Amino acid sequence: MFEDFWAKKGEEATVVIPGWQTLSYFSDVTNVCWFLERDFGQEVRRLHKLVGNAVTEDRYIVIGTGSTQLYQAAVFALSPPDASEPMSVVSAVPYYSGYPMKTDYLRSGLFRWAGDARAFKGESYIEVVCSPNNPDGSMNKAVLNSETGKTIHDLAYYWPQYTAITEPADHDIMLFTVSKSTGHAGTRLGWAIVKDPNIAKKMTKFIAMNTIGVSKDSQLRAAKILKVISDGYEHPNTKSSMRLFDFGRDRLAKRWERLREVVKATKLFSLPEYPLETCKFTREKFAAYPAFAWLKCEKEEIEDCESFLKKLKIQTRGGMHFGVDMKYVRVSMLDREETFKLFIERLASLA
Ligand code: PMP
Repeated sequence: MFEDFWAKKGEEATVVIPGWQTLSYFSDVTNVCWFLERDFGQEVRRLHKLVGNAVTEDRYIVIGTGSTQLYQAAVFALSPPDASEPMSVVSAVPYYSGYPMKTDYLRSGLFRWAGDARAFKGESYIEVVCSPNNPDGSMNKAVLNSETGKTIHDLAYYWPQYTAITEPADHDIMLFTVSKSTGHAGTRLGWAIVKDPNIAKKMTKFIAMNTIGVSKDSQLRAAKILKVISDGYEHPNTKSSMRLFDFGRDRLAKRWERLREVVKATKLFSLPEYPLETCKFTREKFAAYPAFAWLKCEKEEIEDCESFLKKLKIQTRGGMHFGVDMKYVRVSMLDREETFKLFIERLASLA
């Protein structure tokens, strides 16, 4: 979806990296995260300040190869190295399907996936809170509360194209990524905002052990991309007047309107409703336009909604991946314009 925006920005968002640049593993050895390029760190703080979606003052920034690597770094950093049992990692259903897979893939002795946070009994855990939530777009808060419990807040979608920014988030570990904020999933760059220096150090250690840092080329590109976004709001006289969050919200609003019409016409499915909230960034009141549609099949005869839609050549992800039943499916709202149109046409054929 974001391709059209960046194509129009053209030269303004283009980066050229000479052959002699960024050869070293190191960026700034005085920083806890010694492989963080200064420009990228500065642009991250600048953008959060502009949007008002996260507190960055007196916080550490740790970068990763996507927030995927940072999730693993955070789970590692929060798990005691000498506990008798692996730490339980939980998240309220429906949860992002990546969490169970990434937690258990290497069968670590330090942590293990323990499913739905609401069903968890115990005092020691890591709760992953995704807000707005993938897959259902709800503004989740931690459901567990214990002195020894830890949280990781995955705020990949807490940006004004998707939801109203109601306050600057201020949690112990907050994960963000260019994949969802700017559309540059292929740049593989995420950042964590971390309160505790020891946790920031452990996360940095994990990434150093895993990949000896994070691509500098990606950081330079992402620094430019974030700069163009902030400049669009702070210096509106730059060459093109189009601004990323306005573009994203406008596209998503239209797509959601179209989808809701078609879903209603089919009389087969339902979609979640989102409350109207005032966004402190745009100063407008709007309901969320999530990056995914969380479709529920309301027809009793259709038990497996994913297979049902597959017959119509609509590719979705079934509810079981997110810890719920197969009546639910998740559909991406961020595909290219022509793909989204096809999706709507195919869904409309059911009406
Ligand atoms: N968290 C959530 C909630 C996501 O939806 C995704 C991507 N689907 C990720 C993390 C991973 O993002 P990245 O591309 O930064 O690894």
